Amino acid sequence: MRDATRVVHAGRSPRPGEPFLAGPVLAAPYVSAGDPSAQAHTYGRTSNPTWTAYEAALGELEGGPTLVFASGMAAVSAVLLGTTRPGDVVVLPSDGYWTMRATARDQLTTRGVEVRSAPTAGGAQGGLLDGASLLWLETPSNPGLDVCDIADLARRAHAAGARVAVDNTTATVLGQTPLALGADYSVCADTKATTGHGDLLLGHVAVGDPDLLAPLAAWRSQVGAVPGPFETWLAHRSLATLDVRLRRSCATALAVAQALAARLDVGDVRHPGVHADAELVARQMRACGPIVSFSLASATAADAFIDALALVLPATSFGGVHSTAERRARWAGDDVAPGWVRFSAGLEDAEDVLADLAQALDAAQHAMAAA
Ligand SMILES: *Cc1c(COP(=O)(O)O)cnc(C)c1O
Repeated sequence: MRDATRVVHAGRSPRPGEPFLAGPVLAAPYVSAGDPSAQAHTYGRTSNPTWTAYEAALGELEGGPTLVFASGMAAVSAVLLGTTRPGDVVVLPSDGYWTMRATARDQLTTRGVEVRSAPTAGGAQGGLLDGASLLWLETPSNPGLDVCDIADLARRAHAAGARVAVDNTTATVLGQTPLALGADYSVCADTKATTGHGDLLLGHVAVGDPDLLAPLAAWRSQVGAVPGPFETWLAHRSLATLDVRLRRSCATALAVAQALAARLDVGDVRHPGVHADAELVARQMRACGPIVSFSLASATAADAFIDALALVLPATSFGGVHSTAERRARWAGDDVAPGWVRFSAGLEDAEDVLADLAQALDAAQHAMAAA
C-alpha cells in the first residue's frame, strides 16, 4: 500500500456497527480486580485504549513499536533523559531544536552526562563519536534546515557502540523513515505537521528494537509525561489527511523557496529542496517539509515584512494548515541573523501565499527606503 492509503487506514480496524475511529476513552481508573498484570487497562497514567490505537497507526508508518507522549519535548526527554546514565556521552546537533539543547544543558550535564555538539551540515557529528552512548540527529534541522546522512551516521555510531535517535519533526514519517535508515529511535513532535491543525501538543517515539520500548514506557508513567486521550484522538483523526496536507504544503514551500531565491532583497534561502545536497535529499527523503527559512537585511526589515503580511499569520511553530512566519531572533537561543525569517507553508492556494509574501517584501523595502 502507498502512503496516502496507509495514513487513512493506519490503526483502524472497524467492525460492523462500530465507527471508523472509536471516540476518545476518558478514564483515570478502570474497573479492575485482582492481578493487575493480567488486565489491559487499570489506571490512566499507564495505558489508554485511545493511545493504543494511535500508537498502532504510527507504528505501521514508522516500522516499529511506538509510544505517544504529552508533547514533542516529552518524547525528546524520554530518550535524552530516560535512556542515559551518569558517565554516558551524548552527541547533539549544535543547530538542533533550541529547547532540546537547553534540556541537554540543564538536565543532562548536571546529571553527569557529557554533551558534545557539532553542526548537522556535512555530518560533522560523526567526528565526535569516540566513547559516545547516544547520537542525536535532527534532519532537516530546525530552523536551519540542514540535512545529514542518517544511514551513514547510524553505521558509524553503531560501530562506535552508540545508539542513534533522529528527531523527524520537520519531515514527518511520510517525508522520511529514520528506523528504515538504521536509527534506533524515531522521535517526532506531532504538534507540528504530523497532526497539522495547530490545536494540540503531542509527541511520539518509535523504536527499531522492541526491547527499547519498555524503558521508555516506564519513564512515561513514572514522570507522568502522558497525553490526554482527547488530544490523542484528534491526532489520530488528523493523521488520515497527512499525505494530502504534506503534498500541498511541500509544493507551496518549494515554490516559495524558488520565488524568494530570485529576489535581490532576500538572502540565504534555506529549504532542503533548494540549498541542501540534492543527491542525499533524493536518497533519504520523500518530501522536503513545509518550512522555508531566509534572511532579510535587518531585524527592522524582517519586522516590517512580518507586519505587512495580510494572509500569512505571524506565529511560531510550523506545519499547520495556516501559513505562518516569524522573525526567529525574537527568541533567544537560535544562532541566526537578526533578519532571519522562518516561514511555514499552510494549505492555502499557493498563488495567494506567493502574492502575500511578494507584497509584504515590497512593503518592507519601501518602509526601509523611507526610513
Ligand atoms: C516543536 C519541536 C519539538 C518540540 O515539540 P513540542 O510539542 O513543542 O514540545 C521538538 N523538536 C523539533 C524539531 C520541533 O520543531
